[in-house]
Amino acid sequence: MATGPSFPSQTRSSTAPDRSSPVSVATPALMRDLSRGWRAHGQTVGLVPTMGALHAGHMSLVERACAENDRVVVSIFVNPLQFGPHEDLSRYPRSPERDAELLRAAGIDAIYKPSAATMYPPDATTRVVVHGVAEPLEGAARPGHFEGVTTVVAKLFSATEADRAYFGQKDAQQAAVVRRMASDLDMGVEIVVCPTVREPDGLALSSRNAYLSPDERRAATCLSRALRAGARAYQAGERDPARLRAVLREVLDAEPLARVDYAEVVDPATFKAPGALAVLAVRVGQTRLIDNHDLELPFPGQI
Ligand code: AMP
Repeated sequence: MATGPSFPSQTRSSTAPDRSSPVSVATPALMRDLSRGWRAHGQTVGLVPTMGALHAGHMSLVERACAENDRVVVSIFVNPLQFGPHEDLSRYPRSPERDAELLRAAGIDAIYKPSAATMYPPDATTRVVVHGVAEPLEGAARPGHFEGVTTVVAKLFSATEADRAYFGQKDAQQAAVVRRMASDLDMGVEIVVCPTVREPDGLALSSRNAYLSPDERRAATCLSRALRAGARAYQAGERDPARLRAVLREVLDAEPLARVDYAEVVDPATFKAPGALAVLAVRVGQTRLIDNHDLELPFPGQI
């Protein structure tokens, strides 16, 4: 249950971070009351939507949101609507105590943690569907996934009335789909996309990395190695889409524990070829990993 909001006269940017525990909010009505109270005092609200099991990738979004807004809300909701029937909803990693501790230390204002029953009462039938950019790649590989994402994100925007919302480049197509939705539906939320945070060996941080065995964890570096090879080829002048795809595939196909779902080079707005954004979805053992990189930029790190 939310405690009553307080309204310091100074903004976050002019004060030290508030280390008191964030308010925990469980319903859209309470979330909206809290946010409207802030906004009535001229404060801006930043939202970071997550499914919890927070890691440094999530926290980079939180940090950016804290730097750019007077008030920051982090939502934690493992959204059943975006998981397919044979996906990992029931075993999705959860770490509520650690999440709360990380968010308290970050100095955010509220954790919005609605239940599935609150979000999707039995009589709710509305879904938000984005066409075009939501259709290829992840959209084709995971039918219904983006419809689940856009429906929940629209509800989060509606409950928080956020000025800005923060998403990771790690899920590049998701960010593009959300941007399309916010623009098409005049939602008035600024979509901010933050760079992918990686392990030292290049693996993009993901809650799903926790599923990997030690051998699979080693094999999972094939994604970042493929993106690095693609960036090198592009910077050496290669522009032929088929040859760029072949560079990605050569690295991925050489990894015995990996099975490629797709490896394409697409336009970052439409997610259709041709373009310069290399996008990968690869199964390593039972775990499906995604990653991407703009080939016009050098791949980060040394390896
Ligand atoms: P999730 O909890 O997986 O739904 O992710 C919540 C947000 O964190 C999404 O906008 C993701 O794109 C973002 N995110 C996840 N992993 C990373 C990462 N390694 N670097 C940056 N952002 C990330």
